[in-house]
Parts: sequence; C-alpha cells; structure tokens
Amino acid sequence: MKRSLRSLDQGSLEGRRALVRVDFNVPLKDGKVTDDTRIRAALPTIEYLRDRGARLVLLSHLGRPKNGPDPKFSLQPVVRALEKLLGAPVTFLPDPTSNEAVTATRRLPRGGVAVAENTRFYPGEEKNDPMLAQQLAALGDLYVNDAFGSAHRAHASTEAIARILKPAVSGFLMERELRYLGEALHDPKRPFVAVLGGAKISGKIDLIEALLPKVDAILLGGAMACTFFKAMGLETGNSLVEPDRVDLARNLMATAGEKLVLPAGAVIARELAPNAETRRVQREEILKGWAVYDIDPATERSFGSRIEAAGTVVWNGPMGVFETPPFDHGTLAIARSMAQATGKGATTVIGGGDSAAAVTQAGLADRVTHVSTGGGASLEFLEGKELPGVAALDDG
Ligand code: ADP
Ligand code: MG
Repeated sequence: MKRSLRSLDQGSLEGRRALVRVDFNVPLKDGKVTDDTRIRAALPTIEYLRDRGARLVLLSHLGRPKNGPDPKFSLQPVVRALEKLLGAPVTFLPDPTSNEAVTATRRLPRGGVAVAENTRFYPGEEKNDPMLAQQLAALGDLYVNDAFGSAHRAHASTEAIARILKPAVSGFLMERELRYLGEALHDPKRPFVAVLGGAKISGKIDLIEALLPKVDAILLGGAMACTFFKAMGLETGNSLVEPDRVDLARNLMATAGEKLVLPAGAVIARELAPNAETRRVQREEILKGWAVYDIDPATERSFGSRIEAAGTVVWNGPMGVFETPPFDHGTLAIARSMAQATGKGATTVIGGGDSAAAVTQAGLADRVTHVSTGGGASLEFLEGKELPGVAALDDG
C-alpha cells in the first residue's frame, strides 16, 4: 500500500503548504462549470487539510489544450465553482511557474486555498519534465495526489513531482480507489465474477487476459460478444464485429474454457433508433440485416444470478447500447443485480466511464461498493499494470 494523507502527523500539517494534485477536469459551458461532481469528490481531502491549518495549492489539468495557454481551457471557472462549494475565497495562480505564484502561496492564510492554472498549458507536463516538476514543487511543502483518473499517465504534476516533493502521499479519493480496486484484484471474496462489455474487444484484450487466471467467471456482453459469436461460426448480421480479432476470440475461448460465459441470446434490430422494431433471439438466430444491440432477458437472468451469488464482482463495460433505449435494458438489469449482490454482502466495483454513467443513470451508484472515478486508470489497474502516478508516491 501507498502512504496516505491519514498517516501524516496531524500537527505537522499546521501552516504547511500542501500541493494537491486533483482531478478538476470538469465540463465547461460559457465559462461555467456544468457538472461539479469531480470538484466535490476532492472535498474530503481539501476539508481535511483546511481543518488542520494547512495552506492548499491545487493542481489539475483540464481538457486537451494543444499549443500552450488557451482561455477555453482555463481553470478560472473552477475557482468560482470551488469558492461556492467552500464558502470561502480561492486564490487563482495564473502562472504556477512564476515567482509571483510562489509568493502568493506563501501569503495564503492557514486554511487558505489557491488553484493553479491548467498544468497542460506547459509543454513539460505531458513530457514528465523534471524542470517543470521542480518549478511546481516550489509551490508546496508536501505533495498529495488525489487524482486517480490521471495516475496512469506519467506527467510532471503526477509522477516527476512526487519524486521531488516529499512526503508524497495519496489523498482520500485516491486511497479509496486503491483500496477497493486492489482488494477486488488481489484478495477477492469468492466467487469472483467479472462482467465485461462495451464496444470493442480490441480495447479489452489485456483486461480479459489479466482477469482470466484470477476470476471464477467472466460474463461477457456488449458488442464484444459478437466477435466471439463469429468465432463460434454463428451469423452476426450487421453487428459490430472486429474481423481481425476473431482468431484471438477463438483462442481466448479455448484457454478460458467454462470460465468465459457468453450471452445465450440477444436483442436485435435493423437500425439503432429509439423506436426501432426489436426481436429477442437465441444467439444462433441472429438475422442477416439485423444487429445485436443488447443481451436478452434470459441472459439478464443467468448473468444476474451469477452476480448475486458472487463474493466479489468487477464490472467494466455496458451490456448493450445503453445510450439508446430500449437497448439500455440489459445494462440496467446488471446494475440492479450489482445492487442486489452488494445488499447480500458482496464487494461490487465498477470501473469504466460508460459503465459508471449507466449505474449513475440507474440511480444505483450509492448501492454498490465502489464506482471508480478513473476510466482509463481503473482499466489499467485491473489489467495489473503499475500506475506511474501511484508508483511515485511514498510507500506506506
Ligand atoms: P466503459 O467506458 O464502461 O469502459 P466502453 O467504452 O468499453 O465501456 O464501451 C461503451 C460503449 O459500448 C457504449 O457507447 C455502448 O453503446 C457500446 N456498446 C455496447 N454494446 C454494444 C453493441 N451491442 N453494439 C454497439 N455498441 C455497443
Ligand atoms: Mg468508454
């Protein structure tokens, strides 16, 4: 485990400048934050430090500015949103690499908060440049990383800086992510079931291969299943199939044996539209000219009963095109089964941006053990890869 903010002697935070890497990569419209979920997710860490008299300097990226500073990607709107949430003034640091910024951090009162401009305005950020990290490190006396969603990237504000500014510890959100994802992966209550879906098998091959030896079963839905249907020699109509992965799917089936469970049936349609005519068919009955857009109710039930009998469930990727009802049916059924399993004492973890959105849409986000805030980062974690932003933190 990595050293957490909790482990730091509380008295030692008094008056110190805590440089906190957060994930304030929020959606903006007309200069306003339209969804402050990510800002609120960082509040436990922020409030903890303020309560102990630390002075806070927050670092984040926002969007993908390409050529240096671009007002469209400024963190200024985040300053206003944070002021509202904290009910306190927040200082903005327009150039965190300047001497003025260092001076401003030294002038912060105890419990005071500053937000630095977008780290991606500096070319050194994505190059993990130690020079930039050195400049940013001058803004703090200790480093806290609470940006799990950025931890799979070795950037100056996530990796290089944690090697320079010590102590370097995890914030509460980061700690939670590492605990739940880590427990599921390394010490699962059995049976351990993975539910995998989504559009493409190509993006999830590493995940399937990494999970196979660890889990008791992989329940596989989404368009991904169609590439396996193809490998079984079935008609797949106009379904999303990756022809260049059919051999791989065949090999995976051979290696996995009974661990890999494919849908027995599907909901098909001729077009992807809200009022399209649909049919429920066995997987052997997929029609030419039609495409698979969801799992069928019989598969919902068989996947559901395996989920509800599990000790640990990890879910990544929707079962169908949940953005277009009625093809959200299978995904919502899985979300309900996850909640049921949680109620019975199972540890249930959801990783993946779209699956997290689906569970939130179903109103069940607080009835599962943990919904990961990091799409790509949780995927890489579950693939067993080391996240550079985590590796650089102090060992606990
Ligand atoms: P996550 O973000 O949870 O990791 P992915 O990004 O891998 O999930 O996949 C999500 C996408 O997969 C969704 O946009 C969904 O519409 C699509 N999808 C799922 N099932 C199908 C299907 N049968 N046909 C086409 N697209 C599908
Ligand atoms: Mg996605």
